[in-house]
Amino acid sequence: MSFEQLGISKQLCEALPSQGITKPFPIQENAIPLILKGKSVLGIAPTGSGKTASFILPILEKRQHLSYKNSRNIPVLILVPTRELAIQIEAFVKSCTSFLKRPVKGMAVYGGASINPQMKNMMGTELLIATPGRLLDLMEQNALSLSQLETLIIDEADKMFQLGFEEELQSVLKEIPSASQYILFSATLNDKVEKIKSTLHATFETVEV
Ligand code: AMP
Repeated sequence: MSFEQLGISKQLCEALPSQGITKPFPIQENAIPLILKGKSVLGIAPTGSGKTASFILPILEKRQHLSYKNSRNIPVLILVPTRELAIQIEAFVKSCTSFLKRPVKGMAVYGGASINPQMKNMMGTELLIATPGRLLDLMEQNALSLSQLETLIIDEADKMFQLGFEEELQSVLKEIPSASQYILFSATLNDKVEKIKSTLHATFETVEV
């Protein structure tokens, strides 16, 4: 099975070899077709399994065919527990950008860095990769709008809880409108992850590696 057979366009596949990505990993084989179809997905997969590409590739694949009017509307929100993960996902999005039909802007925002440059750079962001606390700050400053949110991704949900971000995550979920697609990734499945899953009110397809 190739990435093209999974539904990723030839041009976007050309972004992958330079990242050392050639043949799909199991999580990618299982998750990519479901995400392309617009299903909500619960992925049980540890770091190193290739989980980032398993959700970024189908999201970019879809977005490059959709029009987007330059604005502060964020159609895809990716919540992550740490700054390092945010930066890593942003780097992967950026490495794909020049292989898309049109540029799709991804941007990481996280605490521990000055908020002003993040606010200034928000315009035109289609994939916002954010830690929950910084997202709440940016929402308070009206730096962005989530009123047209389509896809909400929560990555490393179990780590989010281990680091004590449960309350912040719940506050974010309370503040944002419902999305049409949810993607929840976690290395392990536990009560807290189940609780978040039920908060999201969606029918999930589970993929596990
Ligand atoms: P992740 O689990 O998303 O943190 O990815 C872990 C590492 O695996 C990253 O360095 C990716 O570039 C790499 N990777 C992801 N998918 C593949 C693949 N299909 N083949 C080889 N390496 C990959």
